[in-house]
Order: sequence, then C-alpha cells, then structure tokens
Amino acid sequence: MTSQRKFIDCHIHLYQWFDPSGRSFYEVLDDLQQKTGLERLCVIADEYLEWGGVEQNILTALYKLHNPTAYANGCVVFPSAPVRLPLPDGMDALTQYEELMEIGMDGLKILCKPDIEKRIALPINHPFYEELFAKAEEDQTPMIWHVADPESFWSPERRGRDCYSDGTYPSFETLFRQTFDVLKKHPRLAVTFAHFLFLSDRPETLELIFDHYENVSIDVTPGTEMYVNFSGDLPFYRAFFEKHADRILFGTDATVPVRADAEERIHSVYHAMVTGDTVLMGRVRRPVQGLALPQGVADKVLRNNFLQRWGEDPKPINQRALKAYINKYAHMISHEETKKQILLAAKKLG
Ligand SMILES: [Zn+2]
Repeated sequence: MTSQRKFIDCHIHLYQWFDPSGRSFYEVLDDLQQKTGLERLCVIADEYLEWGGVEQNILTALYKLHNPTAYANGCVVFPSAPVRLPLPDGMDALTQYEELMEIGMDGLKILCKPDIEKRIALPINHPFYEELFAKAEEDQTPMIWHVADPESFWSPERRGRDCYSDGTYPSFETLFRQTFDVLKKHPRLAVTFAHFLFLSDRPETLELIFDHYENVSIDVTPGTEMYVNFSGDLPFYRAFFEKHADRILFGTDATVPVRADAEERIHSVYHAMVTGDTVLMGRVRRPVQGLALPQGVADKVLRNNFLQRWGEDPKPINQRALKAYINKYAHMISHEETKKQILLAAKKLG
C-alpha cells in the first residue's frame, strides 16, 4: 500500500487456528497488518454456522494478548441451535457479557442475519437479551451490529448462495423491526451498524436514524452494492460522508484465515475512501469509483471515529479470566484442531 494515511479496520473476522497452508492465525494476521499498513485492527467474533462463537471469542482474545494494537469484540454463545431457553446456569446474556468484559474484550458483536436467526430461532428483541443491552448501554460498550443482508437476497430471482425468498427466513423488514425495538428501549447504545446498515440506497433513512440515535454509526464494510451506489452519484455521497463524517467507520470483512482476499479487500476499501481511482470491489471484482474524501473527513472515517468509540488503547487481557472462560466453554468448540491448540494455549495463561 503506497499511502501514508493512518487507518484502523473495525471489522475483521477470525475463525480458525490454522489456514489451509498450516500458518497460525497469529502469523496470518500479523502478516496482513504488516502488508496493508493497518495502524490498529479490531477482530470480531460471531456465533456463526460451522465456526462457533466460543472459538472466535477465544481466538480474538488470544490475538489481543499477542498484538498490542488489536481490539476485539466478543459475542454471546449458545449450546444448541435452535436455542432452548433457559440456557444452562451461568450462561444468561448478562453473565456472558460480564465474562467477556472481564476477559478484556473491547466491545460486542451482534449478528442479526436471516440465516442465523432462522437457525437459532432467538430474535434480538427477545427478553433473553434485555439485561445485556441495559448494561451495555450504561457502560457505553461499543458494538458492531450486523442487521439483515442486502435486500436483493430476498428476491425470488436470486440464485446461488444466501437466497432468502422461500418463506422460511425472517424478512428484511422483520430484522429491522427487531433491531429497532432494542434501540427504542436503549437509545444510547453505542452501535456501529455494519455495511452501511444495508441502506446505502436509502440515505434519507440513515439520516433519520442518525437524528434519532446520537450514538449510532455505520461502517463501510462491503457489500459491493454500497460502492456501486456511491459510484452512481459521487457528489451526493461525498456530501453525505462530509455531513456525517463523525458517524462512518472504516471496515472490510477481511476474514482470517479462510478468505484469501483479505489483503485485497483492505486495499480496495481504503482506496475507495481516499482516492478517486477505479477500484475492483468484492468477490465479483466489480469496478467502482473511489469517493476521494477530503483529508479531514477521511481521517475521521479511517481512524478517529474508531478511537473515539473504542478508546485510544485496547483493554488489557485478563489471563486468569480468559483461562476460566476456556475451561468453562471449551466443550462447545466444534473445530477439533482449533480446540486442541486452544487447550494448549490455555496451559500457558497465567
Ligand atoms: Zn462481517
């Protein structure tokens, strides 16, 4: 990367210990940071399909211990899908939140995605989460929150991955309603909605949300469709970024170690912010034109907004709390090799 501008990626995923070539996530992420010139990075954990939240919480915490420029956002985990309530003793949402905070996680990740909600059958506005959101609002804990997916994924014409039109998935509108049920109750939540909240084609709705919720922000993690929309009316979107420069954060969805295009992603999103060049975006490498944000706006988006929300320094990891978390939850780790490595790492924790 040629530019000298400092930047921080708020949206990096970390799934497994080893990549297909046998490199550990420590090596892969260190290498990614070095090659892209990322000043700092935030790794985020999801209770996701084949890679569960337990291992992601632990890997992101271990990475923080290894890299003093890394932040991590942890997630709530479940022993079964669909979720059966009540969860076993000591796994209520508030206890899990407090465990993550005690470990030294810097924030939370919330995943309110149609395929996940179908699988766990526990909507985000369920009373299960109430105490967690009340405490996170009080603590002003930064969250990355993914709502829905691009609306086109519900179209009956869509083929291939992520088709939600067969009537078995919650609708786009339902996921938004559930999310804003929570926000209405907890309007001061420090939320960064991922992917422009999938509303890049409805900037007026985003403005209403910003007006209503003082701590809400959005990230520029692709969705290629966002960049196609930006490209379609550069003067409008450049003005939108300027007007809401305090509410927009840099993110990429670089995924370690399963997505080989992590470096290219970071490169593309960075260039789409700071230059007016044609950039190839996303899996389909769609050509889009960069926003060429003015320097003051770019600096906020690239790093200052992140530091303001997450703090100037990552929280220190409490090794004893991390070890206790591993002991409590290791039986829920699905990936055998990752589990083996985590248990070895736990032995070295103080
Ligand atoms: Zn993501």
